[in-house]
Amino acid sequence: MKLADRMSRLGTETAFEVLVKARALEAQGRTVVHMEIGEPDFDTPANIIEAACKALNSGYTHYVPSAGLPEFRKAIADEVSKTRGVSFDAEQVVVTPGGKPIMFFTIMALAGPGDEVIYPNPGFPIYESVINFVGAKAVPLPLLEQREFRFDVEDLRRKVTPKTRLLIINSPHNPCGSMLSKEDLQAIADMASENGFMVLSDEIYIRLVYDGEFMSITQFPGMPERTIILDGFSKTYAMTGWRLGYGVMPKALAAQIAKLMTNSNSCTASFTQMAGLEALTGPQEESYKMVEAFRQRRDVIVDGLNAIRGISCLNPRGAFYVFPNVKEVVKRGKFANAKALADDLLQEAGVATLSGTAFGEFGEGYLRLSYATSIDNINEALNRIDGFVSKLS
Ligand code: PLP
Repeated sequence: MKLADRMSRLGTETAFEVLVKARALEAQGRTVVHMEIGEPDFDTPANIIEAACKALNSGYTHYVPSAGLPEFRKAIADEVSKTRGVSFDAEQVVVTPGGKPIMFFTIMALAGPGDEVIYPNPGFPIYESVINFVGAKAVPLPLLEQREFRFDVEDLRRKVTPKTRLLIINSPHNPCGSMLSKEDLQAIADMASENGFMVLSDEIYIRLVYDGEFMSITQFPGMPERTIILDGFSKTYAMTGWRLGYGVMPKALAAQIAKLMTNSNSCTASFTQMAGLEALTGPQEESYKMVEAFRQRRDVIVDGLNAIRGISCLNPRGAFYVFPNVKEVVKRGKFANAKALADDLLQEAGVATLSGTAFGEFGEGYLRLSYATSIDNINEALNRIDGFVSKLS
């Protein structure tokens, strides 16, 4: 079999590979504390599950329009208008199976060979993977610990060229937990208007904000016409397995993205969309309770990591990840790199983490831990990491 050349350029998500390794250790009778996977440990709220069952029982078992059910697109437009303080209408919304396809479709629709796409590094690995896949040039924008894991505005300015088609931003950020400031967003808005590029704003962690206020790039004049908002239900409503997300974008682009939906999925499952409608319009208490639980866990894990010799960890402002600096531990333990440390932590101490480099080359020297797990698990992970690190000479 001869694969198409582009397949050699497609990357992956290491979290799923580490999960497989961790499960193999568990099958041998070892216990593993899972800090690798980025999904809420909570169950989907009952009212949402009930809405899906009701929809299935009342005939939502057929194809629906590729861009989504009209009433659901309208509810999304209302929600996004409310939370971003900018007016959007239903025709700007495309519903997809998870937020992830919006990355794939947007990059596919806007960039190709000869084009450049700037993306955060470290950052969600699928950005770089898909940019490479479509044959565009992937231009990494380093996020810097000394800027609380935000990029340097002058660095971005230098990276913008006449070939720049798209800039990807993600705030609150996976894996760093950082948030872009108003000044950062203003600078992006100015550059986008001057240079005519589009912005893919991955806002999937919008509700998971612990310090400060969320701001969307669409709040800046001229930016609703240049922005694709990516959002979804996985993180806010603990619905990762349902596969439900959406993009909000200029109407002309929405029509193109809907065509990509027709060509790939036909449509997003109809009863799932009815569950999403309930998620948006029903009670929100369960979702806010989860946010509060994540905040408490964040405080436990940040304090615990900072108490371990050789590890320093900034307080993330959003999402549910920490990105501790482990350079001193890598050096003291004579590990080749952060990945070797993460491998040993799993094998020797039974703690599954990801190397910062799973999120790009600028993640070297860091680990990523997801704290979407119980406080007991977090404390167990901290004890195991402390024991492991203390033994290094
Ligand atoms: N964007 C970011 C930054 C993420 O971390 C994730 C999932 O981990 C997604 C998008 C995609 O989420 P989903 O496809 O489950 O909606």
